[in-house]
Amino acid sequence: MSSVPAPADGELVSAALPSDGRRHAIQPADVRGRYDSARRVTFILLIGLWAALPWINVGGHPAVFVDVETRELFLFGATYGPQDTWLLFFLLTGVGFGLVYATALAGRVWCGWACPQTVFLEGVYRRVERWIEGPREKRMRRNAGPWTLEKVARKTASQVAFVALSFLIAHIVLSYFASLPKTFAMIRQSPGAHPEAFGWMAVTTAVLYADFAWFREQLCVVICPYGRLQASLLDEHSLVVGYDARRGEPRGKKGTSGAGDCVDCKRCVVVCPTGIDIRNGVQMECLACTACIDACDEIMDRLERPRGLVRYDSQDGLAGKPRRIVRSRLVFYSVLLVIGAIVAVLATRRHQDFEVTLLRLPGAPYTADAAQVTDAIQLHVVNKQAKAERYRIEVEPADGMTAVVPIATVAVGSLADVRVPVFLSVPRAAFHREFPVRVRVVREDQPGRPVLVTGTFLGPRS
Ligand code: SF4
Ligand code: SF4
Repeated sequence: MSSVPAPADGELVSAALPSDGRRHAIQPADVRGRYDSARRVTFILLIGLWAALPWINVGGHPAVFVDVETRELFLFGATYGPQDTWLLFFLLTGVGFGLVYATALAGRVWCGWACPQTVFLEGVYRRVERWIEGPREKRMRRNAGPWTLEKVARKTASQVAFVALSFLIAHIVLSYFASLPKTFAMIRQSPGAHPEAFGWMAVTTAVLYADFAWFREQLCVVICPYGRLQASLLDEHSLVVGYDARRGEPRGKKGTSGAGDCVDCKRCVVVCPTGIDIRNGVQMECLACTACIDACDEIMDRLERPRGLVRYDSQDGLAGKPRRIVRSRLVFYSVLLVIGAIVAVLATRRHQDFEVTLLRLPGAPYTADAAQVTDAIQLHVVNKQAKAERYRIEVEPADGMTAVVPIATVAVGSLADVRVPVFLSVPRAAFHREFPVRVRVVREDQPGRPVLVTGTFLGPRS
């Protein structure tokens, strides 16, 4: 097998992480190809979906909306309150495990195709920069040259555009936490009328600007922990973006006797948004963005050689060994994923859009005379929905008990609550000890999904 030459002394292994500690701002070259086209479509769809969610109305609220005032989460028609925080466990572990699964299967597909850092940086900011400042070569030449009027104008225009974009994105972020009418109302008012929201918007704009205009790929290379976990998540059968060293080495210009298919044009390096050379093997800085695949395919097309010198493949596949997509690790992950999904679905199905708590009425716990023992409880019914609902209260009879529910059907407004008293009595002779009281509360239009609450009928112990 041909070996990949080690980087020469002093040569950068990664332009994003040079050994001298200084930052070398990456200026990736433009690339066109099948993966680039697919990523453009993916970015447009993801950004479009993200921007549209606050506008899509499901059950009287945006499809995804965190109401900071009422501390409610509205998710595609379902409402979750602070008491449903436990469901977050399924969301967080589901997202985390989904990422582990996707990485074992298809490498860092999340980083290259769906991570907001990549989507906005590659799909928006870098495109605007190219549009204003020109392609890589022009930008680099201008950056290295003196401050001319044109340089000042283009640099100013791109920074103004970055601030405007960050401002716009910050407002869309804000609309996930304040309703659209409120967001529009706040935009029309002075910042002093809503200092807290203005503060959040200003900080979000500043963070977005700092990240996408300046920090950029360093977030992935220096801060994001996912890249560092990669080594433990990938195995030799996971799909990665890789270089076929058996085919490419030894490198040499076209026509060089004994040379492999890599003509050492470095086109795969100049398009890389983290500045690495994929020919050095799988690296932590590789976001699997596929730009180097498109770049190398373009060169191979020109040389009339087969595409795929740089390609999506497993490390075993690149080394000429058989590929194994189904493997014990993935089977184990799949079993865990299915179990997790079943538990999450069951837990979510148990989630009701109303809550009932059984409380005792203030005052004496019970009264008893020679004829009967009486007790009183109250039900606290909370409607977590965005619309008013009617609930029916049914006490399950037990041990000769009589229940009087003065308001057997109660109307509860949207996100409101009511307290309903229930009076219980049992003949004195029949009362021997305290016993449980079971109450069913059902939504009138959903009688099949009751909430059952249990309390205790209190009385004299002798
Ligand atoms: S683009 Fe392809 S041919 Fe050019 S240096 Fe990279 S691997 Fe070699
Ligand atoms: S090495 Fe290739 S796939 Fe990895 S980040 Fe660079 S261009 Fe993207």
